[in-house]
Amino acid sequence: MAHEDIRVAVRKLCARFPGEYWRRLDRERAYPAEFVAALTESGFLASLIPEEYGGAGLTLSAGAAVLEEIHRAGCNGAACHAQMYIMETLLRHGSEAQKRRYLPEIAAGRLRLQAFGVTEPTSGTDTGAIRTTARRQGDHYIVNGQKIWTSRAAQSDLMLLLARTTPRDQVAKRTDGLSVFLLDMRAAKEAGLSIRPIRTMMNHATTEVFFDNVPVPAENLIGEEGKGFRYILSGMNAERILIAAECIGDAQWFIDKAAAYAKDRVVFGRPIGQNQGIQFPIARAYANMRAAALMVDDAIHCYEAGADCGAEANMAKMLAADAANDAANVCIQTHGGFGFAEEYDVERKFRETRLYQVAPISTNLILSYLAEHVLGLPRSY
Ligand SMILES: Cc1cc2nc3c(=O)[nH]c(=O)nc-3n(C[C@H](O)[C@H](O)[C@H](O)COP(=O)(O)OP(=O)(O)OC[C@H]3O[C@@H](n4cnc5c(N)ncnc54)[C@H](O)[C@@H]3O)c2cc1C
Repeated sequence: MAHEDIRVAVRKLCARFPGEYWRRLDRERAYPAEFVAALTESGFLASLIPEEYGGAGLTLSAGAAVLEEIHRAGCNGAACHAQMYIMETLLRHGSEAQKRRYLPEIAAGRLRLQAFGVTEPTSGTDTGAIRTTARRQGDHYIVNGQKIWTSRAAQSDLMLLLARTTPRDQVAKRTDGLSVFLLDMRAAKEAGLSIRPIRTMMNHATTEVFFDNVPVPAENLIGEEGKGFRYILSGMNAERILIAAECIGDAQWFIDKAAAYAKDRVVFGRPIGQNQGIQFPIARAYANMRAAALMVDDAIHCYEAGADCGAEANMAKMLAADAANDAANVCIQTHGGFGFAEEYDVERKFRETRLYQVAPISTNLILSYLAEHVLGLPRSY
C-alpha cells in the first residue's frame, strides 16, 4: 500500500485518541484541539507544503494516506483537513512573496489556514451567485457580505475567501469577476468580521461569518483580480479527492467494526456473522469500498499528473461517500440495538460520514457535472 510508513505513523498517533476522546467532544460539541496539535507537531498537516517553505514536500497521495488512516482509526480529520486542500490554491496561484510570508509559519504550526469561505446563504451551490463583495479602495479591498458553513473559522488564523470584485452584470460569465483573498482573520476580527457558530447533527466546528466593511490589504489578493473562481477549482478538486480518501477510511472502519461484531455476537446459539443475511451486506460493502478506492487512486494519479481531473475527482468523491454511507448503514444494522448506543461509536461515525452526501458538493451536482461535461447531455440548470 502506498505510503506505508506514513500510515503506520498516523495509526500510532491516532491510537492516542480513542473513541472515548471523540465521544466526549461530540457531547460537548468541542473542537479536538489536542488531536489537531498532535497532527501539527508531527508535521502531517504540512505534508503538502514544499520543503523550501518548511513542509514535507509530499504530493496529494500522501495527504490522502494521512486522512484515510485518520478515519480508518475512528478519528475525524474534518477538524483540520482543509489546511491541506486550501494550501493548493496558495501553492498554485499565490505570489512568491505570499508563499514566503505564510507557508513557513503554517508549516511550523504558528499560523492556521483552516477556513474556506465560499458558500453563502442565498447562493447555495450556485457559486457564481455569491453576493459578498470586495471593493478596491486605495491599497485595500473593503469586504461586505456573509458566508455560511465556514467550518473552523473560529479556530483558524487565515481564511481563503471568495468575493465578487466586479458586479455580475458587468462580466461575460457569471463565474468571472470573482476574486480570492488570503484573509488574516486575527486583524479582521478587530475590524468588522464576526463569527457565529452553527450547531449541527455532528461535531463539526462550522460557522456563519459576517463581513461589515472589513479591510483586506490588496497584497492579500491571490493571483489576478477577477480570476478567483478558476483558482479555487484546483483546490476544490484536491478537496474532493482528500475527502474521498477520508470516506474510504470511514468505510473501512465501519466494515472492520461490523465484521468484528458479527464474529462476536452470539444469537440463537451461533455468531450472527454465520448468517448470510449478515455476511453478504458486509461483503458487499467491502467490495464497494475497494472499487471506490480504485477511483480515488485514479483521481490522485490524474491530479498529480497535472491533468484536468474534474470528472475523476467528482466520481471519486461520490463513490467513496456512497461506499462510506452504505457501510455505515450495514454497520448499524449488524449491531442491532447496540448500533444506537453512544459507547460503540457507530452512531457517531454514522452521523459524521452522512455529511459527505452533501458537502463539499452534493451528489446531484456531481451527477449533473458528469451528465453535462463528460456525457455531453444538455445543461439542466
Ligand atoms: C457541516 C458543513 C460544513 C461545511 N463546510 C463548508 C466550508 O468550510 N466552506 C464552504 O464554503 N462551504 C461549506 N459547506 C457548504 C457545503 O459545501 C454546501 O452545503 C453544499 O455545497 C450544498 O450547498 P447548499 O447547502 O447551499 O445546498 P443547495 O445548493 O441549496 O442545494 C440543496 C439541495 O438541492 C440540490 N440541488 C441544487 N441545485 C440542483 C440542481 N440544479 N439539480 C439537482 N439538484 C440540485 C442539492 O444537490 C441539494 O441536495 C459546509 C456544509 C456543511 C453542512
